[in-house]
Amino acid sequence: MKVAILGAGMSGLSCAITLEKHGIMPTIFEKRNCVGDRFVNAEAMFSILNRPIKDSLSYISRNYDIHLKPIDTVDKLVVHSKNQIGSIDEKIGYTNIRGRHKNSYECQLEKQLISKINFNSNYEYEELCKEFEYVVLATGDGEYASHLGNYRCDLTCTIRGVTVEGKFATDIPHVWFNYNIIPKGYAWSIPFSEKETNLVIAYPNYPDNIKLDINAMWEKFYNLASKDLEQDFRITDKFEITKYMMGICNTPKIDNTYFVGNCFGSISPGLGFGQFAAILTGIYSAQDICGIGKYEELVKPLLKNYNNSLVLRKFLENLKDDDLDFAIKNLDNKLVDKLIDTICGNDSKIDLLKGITPLMKLWNDYRKIRH
Ligand SMILES: Cc1cc2nc3c(=O)[nH]c(=O)nc-3n(C[C@H](O)[C@H](O)[C@H](O)COP(=O)(O)OP(=O)(O)OC[C@H]3O[C@@H](n4cnc5c(N)ncnc54)[C@H](O)[C@@H]3O)c2cc1C
Repeated sequence: MKVAILGAGMSGLSCAITLEKHGIMPTIFEKRNCVGDRFVNAEAMFSILNRPIKDSLSYISRNYDIHLKPIDTVDKLVVHSKNQIGSIDEKIGYTNIRGRHKNSYECQLEKQLISKINFNSNYEYEELCKEFEYVVLATGDGEYASHLGNYRCDLTCTIRGVTVEGKFATDIPHVWFNYNIIPKGYAWSIPFSEKETNLVIAYPNYPDNIKLDINAMWEKFYNLASKDLEQDFRITDKFEITKYMMGICNTPKIDNTYFVGNCFGSISPGLGFGQFAAILTGIYSAQDICGIGKYEELVKPLLKNYNNSLVLRKFLENLKDDDLDFAIKNLDNKLVDKLIDTICGNDSKIDLLKGITPLMKLWNDYRKIRH
C-alpha cells in the first residue's frame, strides 16, 4: 500500500508511527531541513481539556504505544488579569518543548519512527495524488484544505514571542488575560527550563486589532511580565507569526486524502491548544488506512470539541477587564477552590468545556441581542 504523508510534524509523525505499527511503511515529505526546524517554544497539554481522558500522555502511551516525555507537570497555573492574580492549584497537565530542540515532541516522535523522512521536499499535493493510493495532509495549517474548498477559517491570530533567560519554576506557567493591553487575546509564560521561559502574546486579527501598534502592545506586556515575575529578563530568541489560521475542515477526508492536525482543524480557537488533537488525528487517519477505524467517525468528538471551543472564544471576547478581574479574584475563594478541585482533580471525569458550553452560548446570544 502506497501512503504519502505531507508534513513531519505532530500529526504527520503520529500517523507514520501508527502506520508502521500495522506494517505499512509510509513515504514522508517534509519541506524543512530536519524535523522541528523552527524556533524553539514551550507549549502545554492540559488533560483537563480532554476529558473524560484523565491523563493525555499516558492515554496516548497506553492505547497507541506512542511515548512523549514532557518538560514537567503543571502543578499550578497562575492567572493574571488587569488588577488581579489568582491560581489553579491542580495538576492540570504538562508542558513540553517544540521546534529545534533535541527533546522537542517532534524530535521525540521522529525517534519512534522507522521510515526515513524526505527533507527539503517541494512535492505538491497534486503530484502525490497521482503517485500514491493515500495522501495524508499534515502541513500544520489550513492552506491546502482552503485551496480544495474544504476549510472554514474562523479567525487568524498574530502571535509574537521571545525566549528569555531568568529564574523560573518549570511546573508553574503563567497566563495573562488583560484586554487593556491585549484586546480579545492573551499572553503566557511557559518555562522550558529553570533558566528559560517563553513570553508570548496572541490576539485575533479583527479589524479593530489590526489598527493596533503591536510594538507598543508588546512593550506593555513585556514590562508587565517582568514586573509580575519580579525579574529583568535577557532576550535570547524571538519569533512572530502574523496569520495563524484557526478553522476546521468541512469534511475530514476527501476520497483517499486525509486532513490531519491543523489541516483538519485540531487547534482549538478558545485557548489555542492543538497538540493532543493533532496526535489523535494522525493516529485516526492511520487506523482508517489500515482498515481498523473510520476516520470521519473517530474525529467526531474532536469536531464537537472544536465547536465548543469556538463558543468559549466568543464568550471570552465578550468579557470586560472587570469581569476577568472578578473571575480571577475568586479563583482563590475557598468554595471556588473546592469546585476547581472537583472539576480539575486527577479523579475527575467532568468534561468542563462540554458542560459549560450551553451556558456560554446563552450568554453569547444575550450579548448579541443587547448589541
Ligand atoms: C506559538 C504557538 C504556541 C502554541 N502553543 C500550544 C500549546 O501550548 N498547546 C497546544 O496544545 N498547542 C499549541 N499550539 C498549537 C500546536 O502547536 C499545533 O496545533 C500543532 O503543532 C499542530 O500539529 P500539526 O501536525 O498540524 O502541525 P506541525 O506540528 O506544525 O507540523 C507541520 C509540519 O509540516 C511541514 N510542512 C508545512 N508545509 C509543508 C509542505 N508543503 N510540504 C512538506 N512539509 C510541509 C512543516 O515544516 C512542519 O514540520 C501552539 C502553536 C503556536 C504557533
